[in-house]
Amino acid sequence: MPSPPDSGASSPASSAGPAGSDRLAWLEEGAHQVVPGVYRIPLPLPFDGLRAVNAYAIESAGGLTMIDSGWMLETTKDQLERSLARIGAGFGDIRRFLVTHIHRDHYTQAIGLRRIFGMKVALGADEKHSLDRLLSKDSFAMSPQAERLIRAGAQPLMDKMAQAGMRPPTGDQGYEEPDEWISSGAVFDLGRRRLEAIATPGHTRGHVVFADAEAGLLFAGDHVLPHITPSISLEAAPQELPLRDYIESLLLVRRMPDLTLLPAHGPVAPSVHARVDELLDHHDARLAAMLAALADGPRTGYEVALAIRWTSRSKELTELDLMNQMLAVGETLSHLDLLVARGTAVADTDSGAWLYRPAG
Ligand SMILES: [Zn+2]
Repeated sequence: MPSPPDSGASSPASSAGPAGSDRLAWLEEGAHQVVPGVYRIPLPLPFDGLRAVNAYAIESAGGLTMIDSGWMLETTKDQLERSLARIGAGFGDIRRFLVTHIHRDHYTQAIGLRRIFGMKVALGADEKHSLDRLLSKDSFAMSPQAERLIRAGAQPLMDKMAQAGMRPPTGDQGYEEPDEWISSGAVFDLGRRRLEAIATPGHTRGHVVFADAEAGLLFAGDHVLPHITPSISLEAAPQELPLRDYIESLLLVRRMPDLTLLPAHGPVAPSVHARVDELLDHHDARLAAMLAALADGPRTGYEVALAIRWTSRSKELTELDLMNQMLAVGETLSHLDLLVARGTAVADTDSGAWLYRPAG
């Protein structure tokens, strides 16, 4: 069964952001000061679409604390080393990585560096489900994604993915147990500042964000991104209703005081609340569009994904590349399942491909 790489922050339903070169300015190599003692360090990714991930270096008692780490690649490691040098630091100064979630572009470089330098690595407690699955040699780690495609009736897409030779990565991907599992509410005292970990399941099951309430900063990982819509449930062991979890996690950070957004992809933005409102509106609009697509009779998830438009450019599903088609079908299923959970749609689950229709 073909399967995608297990990274990826963006969904093909990405909403629009600034155009042109402004949109790419955040990619520039360096250690960009956000506030005194906090630096944003963009690190390259092997995908065209996402381009880079931000790690954040925080000056703390006895050295540096890092939020996220980049993908375990030589190019990423070299750029991190050069960027740390600009603030007079090196890998040996890193005391701990606090990682927002299990995706490779956030977690695996920390594991690679731990093998050499022995710093501590911490990850959200509910990522254990997916990590156990990734570490079990005999199970096919991403098979939940294949199960979801079957449930969506997306056999034509699965055939195309198989023809294109898409399969799960093999070899050392940098997945190992962390030193520490982070529970929600855990407080990390960095000397100059304190970070509170807050569980924000949705993008992944064990996603956490880190709030520095005193300085007004939110290290948001992939939970709230300024330019794109985070993908939902691309993980080895997803929850049953990941979109419900995601929306609840958006409402959770909306109830907190408004903070400066320090995202894992894209530039620092002034207001978490402003972006959360846009993301909530986006999902409301997608739920309404999918419910409307059910009006003419029962439809599979794949048929709904074919009926609606994708990206800010209103593309058809089949205009997207295969990876994004797979994400789009998964996204559709997450929305349809939430409509069922809310009682506005019903699903006929008798056959392998579920059929959805409006309730009543
Ligand atoms: Zn991610």
